[in-house]
Amino acid sequence: MPNIGQCAPINRLTVGFGGTVSEQEFRRALGYATSAIDLLKRATIPPYPQFYELLYTYATGVNPSLNSRINEIFRDGHATSDIAERLYNEFLRAQDANARISGVSERMSRRIVAVHDAIDTAMTTASAYSASLQIASGDLGADELDTDELRKLAGALLAETRRMQDANHQLEMSLQASRDDIDALQRDLDDVRREALLDPLTKIHNRKAFDDGLLRAVGRAAEGHGHLSLILIDIDHFKNFNDTWGHQTGDQVLRLVAMTLKSNIKGKDIAARYGGEEFAAILPDTDLEGAVILADNIRKAIQAKELLKRSTNEKLGRVTASFGVASYRASDTPSGLIERADRCLYAAKHLGRNKVVSETDLDNDETFPALGAA
Ligand code: GH3
Ligand code: MG
Ligand code: MG
Repeated sequence: MPNIGQCAPINRLTVGFGGTVSEQEFRRALGYATSAIDLLKRATIPPYPQFYELLYTYATGVNPSLNSRINEIFRDGHATSDIAERLYNEFLRAQDANARISGVSERMSRRIVAVHDAIDTAMTTASAYSASLQIASGDLGADELDTDELRKLAGALLAETRRMQDANHQLEMSLQASRDDIDALQRDLDDVRREALLDPLTKIHNRKAFDDGLLRAVGRAAEGHGHLSLILIDIDHFKNFNDTWGHQTGDQVLRLVAMTLKSNIKGKDIAARYGGEEFAAILPDTDLEGAVILADNIRKAIQAKELLKRSTNEKLGRVTASFGVASYRASDTPSGLIERADRCLYAAKHLGRNKVVSETDLDNDETFPALGAA
């Protein structure tokens, strides 16, 4: 693969063109498209639609994580179709749950049409059979039938019966195929639903699952079903880490932190990636004190991990994270609870990072009068 060097995204492309907004839009989109095709050519990646979409997204600069990854790959001169495929699957395909759902529903519609056709055919054959039986019974009622005529009649009835059996068999097969297909479609749909709530990088819950889960948990707490606590977590100096070791290694650390968080929670708790290097844990049935203990255990577990670069076994040191912990109060909204946990997280950063700060710390600590104020 040619080393095509680091390519700056053209998200700051300016259009020296005083036309209407739609003309500008057109120019901008054309700029992204040209840039995407250019990159495909230079990296000799086949211009299949998915790779074009990947590099078009890169050209727009809307997904900084994707851009950093692609920049690194271009810098190392390792651009291949396999890598492009993996990036597409990681960054773009998983997000496209809607397209997958409509794919499943299209297949479902086709299957329903096929079942209707099979039933129609079976019904037509059944009425033809019944008509033949009627004719036969009429013939049998005739006064004089010789052996030959009886044999012919029996032969005709037998042939009709065989046709009917064949049609029934076809219908059975078609229904069985439909049942298998519908089971597979159901599994696909379940996968799509599950994936739509997972973060593609870390495989823990994504922001949507977090928002849904917190709304449900706040609803339950408001109805008096026990305590509810929220932990927000932000990795310390992660930008430095990325700058020093590269974005891909940074991604490994995000996976590691996600796994550490997930392995420390249980039951109804929800561990989620809240944003770039920010995570959250929703803890129903957990009071503030319990949540602080849990947060501190997670903090220690993250700090305890000695990081090694996969490819070279090079020691990368350790990462730490800061934690903000808040608990549900009467008539809290999800955003009210998040805001208080976020203020605690901010205080933890302010205190020097690698700390857990809870709202009681804020209430009691004179160091943060402005932060402690609700
Ligand atoms: P602080 O201790 O104040 O939190 O410092 P910080 O450097 O962690 O905070 P800042 O918000 O300035 O930077 C967050 C960095 O997280 C920026 C970006 O490099 C990194 N980041 C965000 N999302 C991803 C991602 O998906 N992958 C990787 N590798 N890094 C990410
Ligand atoms: Mg942050
Ligand atoms: Mg950070």
